[in-house]
Amino acid sequence: MAQILDGKAHADRMLEEIRQAVATRNATGARVPCLAVILVGENPASQVYVRNKVAACAKTGIRSLEFLLPETTTSDKLIDTIIELNTNPEVDGILVQLPLPKGMDAKVMLQRIDPAKDVDGLHPMNQGLLLQGQRGLRPCTPSAVMNMLKAYGVPMKGKRAVVLGRSEIVGKPMALMLMEEHATVTIAHSRTVDLPSVCREADILVAAIGQPGFVEGSWIKPGAIVVDVGINRVEDLQLGERIFTHDPKKLEALRTRGSVLCGDVRYGEAFEIAGSVTPVPGGVGPLTIAGLLTNTLQACQNRG
Ligand code: NDP
Repeated sequence: MAQILDGKAHADRMLEEIRQAVATRNATGARVPCLAVILVGENPASQVYVRNKVAACAKTGIRSLEFLLPETTTSDKLIDTIIELNTNPEVDGILVQLPLPKGMDAKVMLQRIDPAKDVDGLHPMNQGLLLQGQRGLRPCTPSAVMNMLKAYGVPMKGKRAVVLGRSEIVGKPMALMLMEEHATVTIAHSRTVDLPSVCREADILVAAIGQPGFVEGSWIKPGAIVVDVGINRVEDLQLGERIFTHDPKKLEALRTRGSVLCGDVRYGEAFEIAGSVTPVPGGVGPLTIAGLLTNTLQACQNRG
């Protein structure tokens, strides 16, 4: 039976630390940290993410500003909004919620954010600093995963780590951060040959591919640490039956509600074989928000 790496509990501890740091700043009369969140369009999942981020700000005492722009917003208008926030001295962090509507190039938009306010850590300047092992604002999800692994005392030095997925937001920065802790890292992706064998080498396996229940128990080395970043909505009952062998309640919810959330890993199978595993939900998701607020506080402290 695996140990459950409780991302929710760890995220709550991170948020409490942030709340205390903000309160200490307030007590000295320093400026309240402020996060500006921009949402373009009406993607329901993005609306939920933005609401959760704003609610977490409120919990910690960080001020938040919401910019809800219509789907018809032009790239020029979005750039104008970003530039205004770059120059607004009250604003410490700017987050453009992804994905952007079709026709907007996210990379081009993100490059317009002042790197000092780039709390998602996706500006080329911050990604370059990460590559060089220098201090900068780092992508929230992998940063918070590292924070949790360290808090749980997971040894990384000399361990074999496999990161499934090579996105700029999760896979690549995750691999760099694990390497920084002296793990020997393999990045796998959609062209990797014989993924099961590659995964079986991992002492630490991070799945970030966005494929429900893709990683099977037989791919996991006994005792491995499994971090499941994926957040997927499963609607297919047959697939659900394969994923939720351990969890009849989820299967029932899938039957009655028509869809449920799951990760990239078959949690029940992983639970039987891994040393530790993160659940979905309640694993990496809450950590991402905690990572975002950590970055906002850091950006505020850096700006003085
Ligand atoms: P992307 O779609 O940007 O990247 C997916 C990566 O997975 C790509 O590198 C792709 O390979 C690889 N991949 C896709 N299918 C396969 C496959 N069948 N076999 C091997 N590799 C595959 O996704 P993100 O990195 O943005 O997100 C990944 C998952 O994590 C999603 O479920 C997302 O919702 C979730 N997520 C969760 C967060 C959280 O807070 N918990 C935060 C961010 C993301 P290739 O490059 O070859 O195409």
